[in-house]
Amino acid sequence: MFADVVLPLPLSETFTYAVPASMQSALAIGCRVIVPFGKRKYYTAIVLKIHHDAPQSGVSLKDIHSLIDSVPLVNENQLKLWEWVSFYYLSPLGDVYKAAFPSKLRMESETMVSALVGHATDEKGLRPKEKQIIDLLNEHDLPVKISEIAVRLKIGNVLPTVYSLAEKGLVVIHESIQSKFAPKTETHIFLPKKLSPQSASHAIGKAKKQQLLYEQITGIFAASEADSFSRKEIMALTGASASVLNGLLQKNVLRQATVEIGRLGDGAARVTRAPHTLNEYQQQAFTEIIDCFNDRKPCLLHGVTSSGKTEIYIHLIKRLLEEGKQTLYLVPEIALTTQLTHRLQAVFGDKLAIYHSKINDQERAEIWKKMLSDHPYDIVIGVRSSLFLPFKRLGLIIVDEEHESSYKQTEPAPRYQARDTAVMLAHLTKAPILLGTATPSMESYFNAQTGKYGLVTLANRYEDISLPEIILENTKELRRKKKMKSLLSPALISYMDNALQEGGQVILFRNRRGFAPMVECQLCGWTPKCRRCDVSLTYHKSRNELVCHYCGTTYKMVTECPECHQPSIEPVGMGTEQVEEEVARLFPEVSIARMDADTTRGKNAYENILSDFQQKKTRILIGTQMLSKGLDFDDVSVVGIISADSLLNYPDFRSHERGFQLMMQASGRAGRKNKRGKVIIQSNDPEQPLYRYLTDNDYEGFFRQQAAERKLFNYPPYSRLIRIVIKDKDEQKAEVEARAFAGLLRPSLHERLLGPSKPAVAKIQLYHIREILLKLEIGLSPQKIRKLIKKSEQRMRANPEFKYMRVYYDVDPL
Ligand code: ADP
Ligand code: ZN
Ligand code: ZN
Repeated sequence: MFADVVLPLPLSETFTYAVPASMQSALAIGCRVIVPFGKRKYYTAIVLKIHHDAPQSGVSLKDIHSLIDSVPLVNENQLKLWEWVSFYYLSPLGDVYKAAFPSKLRMESETMVSALVGHATDEKGLRPKEKQIIDLLNEHDLPVKISEIAVRLKIGNVLPTVYSLAEKGLVVIHESIQSKFAPKTETHIFLPKKLSPQSASHAIGKAKKQQLLYEQITGIFAASEADSFSRKEIMALTGASASVLNGLLQKNVLRQATVEIGRLGDGAARVTRAPHTLNEYQQQAFTEIIDCFNDRKPCLLHGVTSSGKTEIYIHLIKRLLEEGKQTLYLVPEIALTTQLTHRLQAVFGDKLAIYHSKINDQERAEIWKKMLSDHPYDIVIGVRSSLFLPFKRLGLIIVDEEHESSYKQTEPAPRYQARDTAVMLAHLTKAPILLGTATPSMESYFNAQTGKYGLVTLANRYEDISLPEIILENTKELRRKKKMKSLLSPALISYMDNALQEGGQVILFRNRRGFAPMVECQLCGWTPKCRRCDVSLTYHKSRNELVCHYCGTTYKMVTECPECHQPSIEPVGMGTEQVEEEVARLFPEVSIARMDADTTRGKNAYENILSDFQQKKTRILIGTQMLSKGLDFDDVSVVGIISADSLLNYPDFRSHERGFQLMMQASGRAGRKNKRGKVIIQSNDPEQPLYRYLTDNDYEGFFRQQAAERKLFNYPPYSRLIRIVIKDKDEQKAEVEARAFAGLLRPSLHERLLGPSKPAVAKIQLYHIREILLKLEIGLSPQKIRKLIKKSEQRMRANPEFKYMRVYYDVDPL
């Protein structure tokens, strides 16, 4: 008996091992095994296939060293998905395995191990090698790397022995030191048991805000069986300010205490409400979605911002839950805010798991194991990689904000598009899939137009709140008339002023962080560039530093030009920092916050900025596109887009699609509850047709215009792109390799192949880059083209000169 396995190495091949007789009855597809590979190295591999095809005579296969699992950790649909991702995105299967499977469940030589306290080598039944390892570990307080154990003890196959020790509960395996268990705590609010409503109301007295909050809180407790709620939850559910809540605590009508919570947040989330009743439009959309599912087609839900798409998702999930099915709810990383998770937790409580990129390896492994248990999570809300979790009875996939570019993984491999992979997962598992957005991607809308996807439209905002009024400000004209005395146009300033006077809030967008995108010598034009990348440095005034936004390297700000030795260096252009400075000058009395990659580094920074704004502690929020994603604020009456042209003027066929989506989403933040909001767009070129579609709220019109252009130039969705990227520290070498590779491919591809060319940023982190672009017609066989590419790569590598060529493929690049 033989088994094909995948190894956690960047290799495309699977490897065949002989299955020892003792293992044959227990071995199953999807189990972990330990196999020797290379010189004295052992790896955790996953079994993909079990068969009886003996190798050619003369080839001798190694044995599987040991079988770890009695029950598979990966199911067959998952393995099929791995294979598809590897095939379609031209990514080594080993890389897919590494990305998809929790590293904690996969020991490698870098894995850290430590002995559990209290176990000595006098343990009975230990083999000599096991004893040796325990002795070594006991000498150290800190965990030791498996590779180090191997070196110290001069034994090769440490991995299997460590596994068996772990199984016996004698050692702990850590991915990193900080993932050691530490209990996690949270501040909770309780209702004192013996307090009567009368004495509570007596204690609160005349404090109006406190009365109101107390009523809200008792309401929440009454609607649930929980005896406590986290302080965070209470604040989010009630929108209360800390001071009002603290007032109630001081009067002893509420109690606060620190409680220990489970690592996965079990028990922290409680059901507090039933789903809202859908209105007639939502109900209609719901019915159409179900019809579409019955047709076995992916369904695109095109619903304007605030139309209540999330409410519809909640109803769909609930329905599936009643059928005993699981839901995967995919969101772009940035949308994983407390807002959305609290909304879902309020309805589904601890049936919900949250899977984002900040959870550690330990939690990742725990969620995986829980999904395999008899009581898996019913709902997983997660980012891209949650696609790879072991669902047992997946019944629905929702891809929220399907147009978001962060669904595409760009680095490292596998460079997959999670939305499209979700469509594949739906196909494999026969689960229906819903893609939802206010601004569909060109690809998805095209698929809906051609009948590949079903289309459901929701044109009304919930409660028919009007869409905002969009006002275009011609900044070029204003400048000519000398009316632009600030970064903000006079009209924007006056709308802001009005809004603030009426107690409203303002959001300003600028898609560049830092103070100025670059600095320049006013005399000779010299600009500082990154030493590792071919890009100008961004000036960060608050830190007085120049920063490379590609590699993060920081440099001291220069004041004197190194070329002409004059103190003539000045910032050019503006970023969020500068907008903030300007707004502070214009509205000195108003509290302002800034949200961009620089201000959201800390663990809770992002959430704190949002909750301060939510609670109106800050009145003006300035930020990058981070701000445009699925956030709900009740009192934002003005949204300003400071420099709209910069969204459209970069050399990419998608720039208008992106700009349109961003501005439309940004507008969606205005006037959600009370009255009609205003969106002010500042542009030097307001004649662009895109702005007309935007002011008319005409997505269809925009789509048709874009589609015509894409068709003319043969861009997606009318073709498919594959970008071949070649890099080398030696520029000449990158150039030669790219030309040789293109030369091999061109005879089969002809004019479908463009390049090789130097990309706009031609050097990143010391590597020079060359690109070859393949523009492939839709009808072309994906199998054939991938075979051609792989064969050509092999032919390249057969040449000793190109053996170590660094190349990767970016399929459907963004
Ligand atoms: P979308 O996801 O389309 O942007 P949401 O689902 O966030 O829209 O809905 C916008 C707002 O309207 C939310 O505050 C939501 O709670 C409220 N809402 C939507 N539908 C309903 C409903 N059927 N009943 C009560 N409130 C609703
Ligand atoms: Zn100079
Ligand atoms: Zn750099």
